[in-house]
Amino acid sequence: MNNNKSLNCRLCKEEANLVFNKKILNKFLVNYYKCPKCESLQTEKPYWLDEAYSKSNLCEDDLGAAYRTLRNHEKVFILSKILKVNKGLDWGSGDGLLCRLLRDYELNFFSSDKYSLPKYSSKFLISDFNNLDLIVSLEVFEHMSEPNSEIDFLFKQKPNSIFISTLFYNNNEKNWHYLHPDSGMHIFFYSKKSLKMIAKKYDYNVCFFDNQYALFYKEGYISNIKLKILKLFFNKYVTKLIRIYLTIIPAKGIEKDKKYFSK
Ligand SMILES: [Zn+2]
Repeated sequence: MNNNKSLNCRLCKEEANLVFNKKILNKFLVNYYKCPKCESLQTEKPYWLDEAYSKSNLCEDDLGAAYRTLRNHEKVFILSKILKVNKGLDWGSGDGLLCRLLRDYELNFFSSDKYSLPKYSSKFLISDFNNLDLIVSLEVFEHMSEPNSEIDFLFKQKPNSIFISTLFYNNNEKNWHYLHPDSGMHIFFYSKKSLKMIAKKYDYNVCFFDNQYALFYKEGYISNIKLKILKLFFNKYVTKLIRIYLTIIPAKGIEKDKKYFSK
């Protein structure tokens, strides 16, 4: 822990103020700062990440990771169908399972992860960032140690849309579960205001779903009617119907990818 009462916000560069401290990884007492401009919360500059990621890119106590991948699969599947996505990217794809599941259903997705080999989709690592209709980045933003430059990279690829999940910060207290002190991996917490500021900076629109999903899109790329349909499909009961649908329809993408590699 340092003794600084403030730091420069790693997203918007405004001076952020100390709000509390908390023990993470059971040994480091770490300061948390709130930014008055973008209204986000962040830890002090993280110096413990090597230790936090020393075993795996997944938090050991994150028992919901597999289930969450299935739920994300439903959402990204329906999103890709409604937006008629020709080329998509899972950015920060971890083990690459979501990308594989999307490809199983003939959605042309690729993987990218700086810190992990996407072993389920290792043959589909992205090499050409041009012409992306959709980038998904799920449970990634809260891990960014330098959100300003990392988000800048993402938007500079000029995709038609970017879909992210991260639990939105809304003046939550020190005992907020999403701080994930046992893993030490969650280090930046975005308010809705900060995500609106990001959208404005890069000339995108943004739309929120529940308290954890944001969809950025270029002006004119998604009509209001499509947004209304998406809101309907993202209802948790409707997404469960999509799971049933995915169970029934054949996963033709597996054979298709096999054929492609046997040429
Ligand atoms: Zn800020």
